[in-house]
Amino acid sequence: MKKILRKNVVLNRAASRKVIGAVCLTGIMIFTLTGCSRKPDMIQRVDTAMGTMIQETLYVTDRNSTVQDAVLECINSLEAERLSWRLDTSELYRVNQSAFTDNSEMVPISHDLWSNLAACMEIAGASNGAFDVTIGEVTRLWNLDTWSVLEDKSNFELPSSEQLQEMLQNTGYEKIQLEEDKISLRDEVQLDLGAVGKGIALDEIKQLLEQQKEVTGAVVSVGGSILTYGQKPDGSSWKVRIVNPNDTASHLGTLSLNGQWCVSTSGDYERYVEVDGVRYHHIIDPATGYPADSGVRGVTILTKDGLLSDALSTACFVLGIEDGMKLAGQYGAEALFVDKQGEIRMTEGMEQYFHLSNEAK
Ligand code: AMP
Ligand code: MG
Repeated sequence: MKKILRKNVVLNRAASRKVIGAVCLTGIMIFTLTGCSRKPDMIQRVDTAMGTMIQETLYVTDRNSTVQDAVLECINSLEAERLSWRLDTSELYRVNQSAFTDNSEMVPISHDLWSNLAACMEIAGASNGAFDVTIGEVTRLWNLDTWSVLEDKSNFELPSSEQLQEMLQNTGYEKIQLEEDKISLRDEVQLDLGAVGKGIALDEIKQLLEQQKEVTGAVVSVGGSILTYGQKPDGSSWKVRIVNPNDTASHLGTLSLNGQWCVSTSGDYERYVEVDGVRYHHIIDPATGYPADSGVRGVTILTKDGLLSDALSTACFVLGIEDGMKLAGQYGAEALFVDKQGEIRMTEGMEQYFHLSNEAK
């Protein structure tokens, strides 16, 4: 009996040691887990870059993170080194200059610029030239990039139709000859990557965020193009509001998205001048040289690729609803159009993300 009791006691001691061990271990685990899952800090920042407003909301596990500076730096160097047609430091500037010198020569370009241009060429073909980055001579004639700083938007001298016709001679994506990491431009073609620059920036920012392990979630807006990345600390979806083109102070609705999307919007309200009561906006129909008049006032595209979403928003604006829907479908992109009457049309897939706002109901 005694023996049995002792054995029990011994057994109980062993068991209690295990229990104490387990409790300690759990304590360490809980402590460690709590340490890991401390609520991420939110960083918000508003800047201007690429001639537009940049808004960053980032969730980070390291409160000393400087990722917000890295994002801005990424946009600025993309502009200065690759995409700007104005800055003589950029590759695009150098390519454009080559059209005025010996344009029978293939000019070497970086692999990044080459792959951006190859994607643009593909979309130009698929959109039947509605999206065309060789529009540079025409967009310069319209002085599009000065419009946002014009004091008086009605005191603007319109280009003449003769001037436009002349400049249209130097457009057409078939005038670009592209070989891997090389390019040549025929005639005096000038490239303008304004329709895809913001989207390319989103692709670059996404790559940067993927390398920053302290970033758990982010929403970054570069002008009209928005990247959702990772998760919000409370697990809820990212909300992206869509401006009502017929009343830009209000919102048409909201997209509820998880962290993997690029959202681009092209609208006639984003940049325009108004001469004699007529609005001239910044999205040009390459067939006429004049602002596109397809009946669309705004189009929003949702894809996982920034360049694609940005190119498609411009292309679909020019093409109008019917052809735009087809083009978006061809790329598996979701699209939402608003026409001049305020009617909304969207792809079936867009319906699961879009929620009409109460004011627009
Ligand atoms: P987005 O706001 O993305 O639609 O881009 C408009 C900008 O792209 C303009 O400011 C021009 O620089 C350029 N652009 C205008 N029309 C076209 C077009 N049809 N194809 C390509 N780029 C264009
Ligand atoms: Mg665009």
